[in-house]
Amino acid sequence: MKLVWLRNDLRVLDNPALYSACDAQQGVTVFVTLCPQQWELHDDAPLRWALWRNQLYQLKHQLSSLNIGLRVLTMHTYLEVPDSIAKLATELNVTELHFNYEYPLNERQRDRSVCQQLEHQGVTCIGHHGELIIPPGQVVTGQGGMFKVFTPFSRAWRQVYLNKLPEPLGMPLAQPAAIDSDVLPKELNWSLLTSTNEQVLNLWPVGEEAVHQRLVDFVDQQESTYKQQRDFPAINGTSKLSPYLAIGALSPLQCLQALKVNQAGDDWLGSTWLNEIIWREFYRHLLVAWPNMSRLEPFRPEVESRITWRNNAEGFDAWCRGETGFPIVDAAMKQLLNTGWMHNRLRMVVASFLTKLLGVDWRLGAAFFMRHLIDGDFASNMGGWQWAASVGADAAPYFRIFNPQLQSEKFDPDGVFIATWLPELTAVPAKKRHLPGAGQEYGRPAPIIDYKAARKAALDDYQQHG
Ligand SMILES: Cc1cc2nc3c(=O)[nH]c(=O)nc-3n(C[C@H](O)[C@H](O)[C@H](O)COP(=O)(O)OP(=O)(O)OC[C@H]3O[C@@H](n4cnc5c(N)ncnc54)[C@H](O)[C@@H]3O)c2cc1C
Repeated sequence: MKLVWLRNDLRVLDNPALYSACDAQQGVTVFVTLCPQQWELHDDAPLRWALWRNQLYQLKHQLSSLNIGLRVLTMHTYLEVPDSIAKLATELNVTELHFNYEYPLNERQRDRSVCQQLEHQGVTCIGHHGELIIPPGQVVTGQGGMFKVFTPFSRAWRQVYLNKLPEPLGMPLAQPAAIDSDVLPKELNWSLLTSTNEQVLNLWPVGEEAVHQRLVDFVDQQESTYKQQRDFPAINGTSKLSPYLAIGALSPLQCLQALKVNQAGDDWLGSTWLNEIIWREFYRHLLVAWPNMSRLEPFRPEVESRITWRNNAEGFDAWCRGETGFPIVDAAMKQLLNTGWMHNRLRMVVASFLTKLLGVDWRLGAAFFMRHLIDGDFASNMGGWQWAASVGADAAPYFRIFNPQLQSEKFDPDGVFIATWLPELTAVPAKKRHLPGAGQEYGRPAPIIDYKAARKAALDDYQQHG
């Protein structure tokens, strides 16, 4: 019997671990490990795990049609994982364990402990790279190191891709006889999920087929205008595939393949959308090259050492609730609180607002995002926050401080996004919806800071000792 350990790779297609384990018809059991306390420690959003659970329900049917059993191992933290898997391996007389790598440090340490214990009892453990198109360590500078800047990384990444031309894997081989599965529904209602708004989950249908259709629809109908539309939050101009990439219901290679199939010649190589997928790869490669980032250390400690985070509790609280009095910031935060997702342009705006204008440590913002994002992803989230705070690889220069009003006027010119999430402002003329403090007569808060003074304070902070 072979075992496949699924984590954030809940799919049957293009799943290297599953595909390899099924290469011969020896019988395969898939299992998942539930560690709710660990997830809470990692600030994972209940919504994200609810999506994961829903996808798992769908996956169970697909697996059973391939005669593959699904087992659920429930525990508290990663510390209990090795023993629990070892027990399952003994029970099923397992010869091989397959899994797709996860790159943050805790997960890599967990996997090392599991492999040590299993190999001790004669089980061969085989890791695969299913979460990335190009594995870490394969896109390197002339000197063999990791790139610190995105553009040369993305150029080199394209070259490595063209040399290898990886293709998504197909359906794994069906196994000879049906294997018992655990019953899923009840045990997956762990306490972490009780705060989940089930209605929000309706926005995010699961199932590999549905997710793939979403990908194909985006590539067919929207990818060609992505470059022009992707910065305007009132327009449905981006793919919204991030939650599915985060739980692995979809692989990045499937995204790239869909793009290639859709575009003639080599046009896909210059696609702006592909560039965003490469950003995702960049942040994962960085995490492996600089393990300290997994300990929430900045890529550029010399910049962060200049800053004394003010961490004003009232300001942070107002930001979290979407009550700063800056309409675009507040509308964005309401979008996050109500849907579990936020438009990329606005993630940059609210992160800049929190770190630079309020002087709050980026780690607090990153943790709040993780607790609410349905697409919470450690590498991309930390990359985005370090970028905004100017302490990351290829980050925004320290003097780049988004002016919320100007961002709002430029990217939500008719105030449509603002009015969607702050309906009180519908009564305010569109042009005035961007102003700090707009709509106080309708119950909106006064601005919690003076933009110019806050900007000056941030510049002073960042320039200290600089
Ligand atoms: C402060 C901050 C925090 C972020 N936190 C997360 C997070 O927790 N999870 C997450 O998936 N993304 C995060 N991002 C990146 C980005 O905002 C989202 O990936 C994007 O908004 C998802 O929407 P989409 O699927 O429509 O993206 P599209 O524009 O359609 O892009 C396609 C895919 O490319 C990837 N991608 C796009 N932009 C980026 C980027 N800047 N960095 C890395 N990958 C990218 C995503 O997987 C996305 O689904 C963050 C960005 C910032 C600035």
